[in-house]
Amino acid sequence: MAIPCPACNKADQTTATCARCGCDLSKLHAIVESAAARLTVARAALVGADCSGALAAVEQSWQLLHSSEAARLGFLAAGTLGDTVRALQWHRRARADAE
Ligand SMILES: [Zn+2]
Repeated sequence: MAIPCPACNKADQTTATCARCGCDLSKLHAIVESAAARLTVARAALVGADCSGALAAVEQSWQLLHSSEAARLGFLAAGTLGDTVRALQWHRRARADAE
């Protein structure tokens, strides 16, 4: 996944070091990959009807990276659990990310 360089703001950096300023981006890429891995766990949990497990994995992903996919999965898991307060919280996160 491409990330912007936090040092020089060059967009779409996919390598371990920034192409413009040489900043080490490896730890940031590791965080993004970890967040994506937690979403993979969440999707599998939802497919297996484990909404609590899905919600836990989504929350872990969200702590690493705020993504619209995490917000949507969180909304789905919380809504399926009947937890309207958390579903609304995820809905707001998804809307905020879309704006
Ligand atoms: Zn840079």
